Amino acid sequence: MRKPGHPDSKPSIVVLGAGISGLSTALALLKRGHDVTLLERGEVGAEASWAGGGILSPLLPWHYSEALAALALRSMAGYADWVSDIETLSERHAEYWRCGMQVSGEARLGEALAWCEAHGLAAQHMLTQTGERLWLPDIAQVRNPRLIMALRAAVLRLGGIIHTHSAVETLTIRAREVVAVHAARNSYAADRFVVATGAWSGIALPSLAGVPNIRPIRGQMLLFKLEPGMLDTILYRQGLYLIPRRDGHVLAGSTLEDAGFDKTTDDATCQRLHAEAAELLPVLGGLEPIRHWAGLRPGSPENIPVIDRHPHFDNVFVNVGHYRYGVTMAPASAELLIDLMEDRTPALDPAPYRWQAALERNWTDSP
Ligand SMILES: Cc1cc2nc3c(=O)[nH]c(=O)nc-3n(C[C@H](O)[C@H](O)[C@H](O)COP(=O)(O)OP(=O)(O)OC[C@H]3O[C@@H](n4cnc5c(N)ncnc54)[C@H](O)[C@@H]3O)c2cc1C
Repeated sequence: MRKPGHPDSKPSIVVLGAGISGLSTALALLKRGHDVTLLERGEVGAEASWAGGGILSPLLPWHYSEALAALALRSMAGYADWVSDIETLSERHAEYWRCGMQVSGEARLGEALAWCEAHGLAAQHMLTQTGERLWLPDIAQVRNPRLIMALRAAVLRLGGIIHTHSAVETLTIRAREVVAVHAARNSYAADRFVVATGAWSGIALPSLAGVPNIRPIRGQMLLFKLEPGMLDTILYRQGLYLIPRRDGHVLAGSTLEDAGFDKTTDDATCQRLHAEAAELLPVLGGLEPIRHWAGLRPGSPENIPVIDRHPHFDNVFVNVGHYRYGVTMAPASAELLIDLMEDRTPALDPAPYRWQAALERNWTDSP
């Protein structure tokens, strides 16, 4: 166990949670020369970050606030370079793919086109035999389970330490500082702590207030297998999306269910998702899904994460609540948090992501 504040040591930071939020924060901290340990309750990235689809954009960005757009667009602009750096460090492939997204059934096409133009996102209006579509050629995707494994390897390569099966259960506190966190078998002292515990961040740990308004929102997903090349772009229509992978896998998702910490799947949802997926891509009607799973998104009102210092403890920071777009927003969220930790003026206005701002938003106002 490190001694906090030891004169010969670099600042030591413990990150709670090794999903994409915790891993991307850890990587950015390691690159700044900090000494980082990650504590993960289960396996690395095995919760929402594994379960998600890996589309690198809000689904219909014009439906959301500027606060969400700012973090998402900043991440999207640098994502290819961010992944490439992780791939170099890790010697693993994360399958970043600028495959574009086709949106059909959108009633607000004029508004969508105007939003894209104002925000520098390429968009084209298409007229097809089956109706009007919007083509977003620059939307990319990443194979999120592979990105997670690459991030894990990059963190280890830069000297980060990861302890799995290490759920933080209690804390030792002195005045306005957390001194150490305790898992069942070990204790970890540090100068600073980062909370990146995803959907579980709304639950208070003893003495540490839960992050306001974060709750788990379940998403069920189906996986199909086609021949490679049969679908080469993301398709979206009225809440349902299909995401092709290079090897012919196709993901169909998803649901938004307020069901607590319950990751079970059900047959009725499987049938509904399958029928909707077949409407979008008829060949899927004749295939059975090869896998069906659910994950728990870290839900937040208006999909706006909380990236801030903890209001009760000067040495605790949070990076949570990315809801439907945590893979997309990971790089810019980590960058913002580290700017705050190092007292630099952030590139983005941090106000919407403050703890206090999260207290003032609530679920009933959410779209
Ligand atoms: C079905 C579905 C589809 C999605 N599709 C997309 C998409 O296409 N694009 C996109 O950008 N996003 C998508 N998302 C959202 C995205 O996956 C999440 O926003 C993101 O993964 C959140 O990352 P996280 O690290 O905050 O949370 P998580 O990945 O859940 O990680 C939090 C970690 O903290 C650990 N933990 C919790 N409590 C403790 C504790 N006390 N001590 C130690 N560890 C703890 C957990 O075990 C977990 O591993 C999707 C999500 C789902 C479920």
